[in-house]
Amino acid sequence: MQINEILQVLPLFLNHSNAAVAIKDINGCYLLANTEFSRYADKPLEEINGHRDQDFMPPERTQQISANELSAISSFRGINCVEEFIKDAQGVYYITTRFPILDENRHMIGLGIVAMDVTEQHRSISEAEQALHAAEQVNAQLREVVENLEQLASTDRLTNAWNRRRFEEAVEGEIHRFHRYGHPISLMLLDIDHFKRVNDNYGHQEGDRVLKQVADSVFASIRKSDSLTRWGGEEFIVLMPNTGLKFAGMLAERIRTYIDAQSFASVGSVTASIGVAEFHPDSSYEDWLDRADRAMYTAKREGRNRIELDATASSTSSIDEHFEGHFVQLVWREGFLSGNALIDTQHQGLFKISNDLLDAVLSGRPTDEISMIVSQLLADVVQHFKDEESILAGLAYPKLAEHATIHAKLVAKALELAEAFKAGTLSVGSLFQFLAYDVVTRHMLGADREYFPYTAPKN
Ligand code: GH3
Ligand code: MG
Ligand code: MG
Repeated sequence: MQINEILQVLPLFLNHSNAAVAIKDINGCYLLANTEFSRYADKPLEEINGHRDQDFMPPERTQQISANELSAISSFRGINCVEEFIKDAQGVYYITTRFPILDENRHMIGLGIVAMDVTEQHRSISEAEQALHAAEQVNAQLREVVENLEQLASTDRLTNAWNRRRFEEAVEGEIHRFHRYGHPISLMLLDIDHFKRVNDNYGHQEGDRVLKQVADSVFASIRKSDSLTRWGGEEFIVLMPNTGLKFAGMLAERIRTYIDAQSFASVGSVTASIGVAEFHPDSSYEDWLDRADRAMYTAKREGRNRIELDATASSTSSIDEHFEGHFVQLVWREGFLSGNALIDTQHQGLFKISNDLLDAVLSGRPTDEISMIVSQLLADVVQHFKDEESILAGLAYPKLAEHATIHAKLVAKALELAEAFKAGTLSVGSLFQFLAYDVVTRHMLGADREYFPYTAPKN
């Protein structure tokens, strides 16, 4: 069949079709288009017939059309696609098929186009999509509401601190852990000083602002593992897992100073009194809180703006027993003095730099800063060992060789651990444990004491 013959037959039914139909010659010139096609092209028929797409179609439609025609021609088969364009400010959708028209010898003699308006169907699809999207959004909002409710149920709205319920849950878990692993736990009870005056002088709203700022200050000072609870009006509790009394006291002091150093808008300065108590396995949770409370009242009585540690030591865990399991500041004592001036100065210097290291670790300083302190501590240790050995040689200390071997071993191990720390394979806690306790303290309180009789002043 020749293209002319097709053209003679087609118009008979084409104008009654719901489909837009058109035929082009091999040069892309429209030979025939039905009325529906005129709607599809958005042009009267006389502007279509005898013309090409680029004569009457907007460039973006022409581009899409020729791309599809090209694949129809090159693949010798019909190419389907959804065409979308704007008509009368509305999105219109057509499913189109473009296919080559071939003669008996499979030579292309023209190109056929059939297009169906599917805007209605598309709209309902997109309505369904929109409904789904809306449902997803509602879902997400619901999730957020639920999360907020949970948050509200466990935190105080004004300060964002935990409420009592959340605190008690956490304490239960910590006490359980205590019994299982023996990790110490401490808490501090913080009460704002003369808070009533703030309300009286500046109003309740300003009082609320102070409460919020105090809570923020505590949040800024505590570690990730610690928690802040609003215990009552102007009373807060900081729960410190894995923390013994001494170190909890250091944290409390840090918080106290931090609050004291701040300026509170119109109120000016605000202070707090803090009681600190460590959990004792042989007494109850209530007793623990009670001891913190009493310590806090002692701080009030003694003049406010101060911290007080609960002095009651339990029968099973004394403060010093926790020396090893967690971090405490090293405290220099009279009894550590050897009598040799250089050795004693160096020993005290090592204590100090160990404490600096602890401080850096606890205040979460960046690794490179900690590494610097570690390097300094190592250098000081090496220098000190050298000096100590030559002093002991001068005093003809009989166990010098043995002592020097211990030094060498400690230094080798310290260097190894410091490398591991820098490589990220050793925790800063383990490194500190070794440097501060094994090298500085243990060695000084152990092996070093053996030479004290030689260094002690003779009278
Ligand atoms: P002290 O140094 O002995 O602790 O004195 P204080 O005035 O802080 O102690 P007191 O317990 O007598 O007063 C606490 C005040 O805290 C009384 C109360 O009006 C106020 N307060 C409690 N809760 C809130 C609160 O949510 N917002 C405000 N603005 N004030 C509160
Ligand atoms: Mg109070
Ligand atoms: Mg108060």
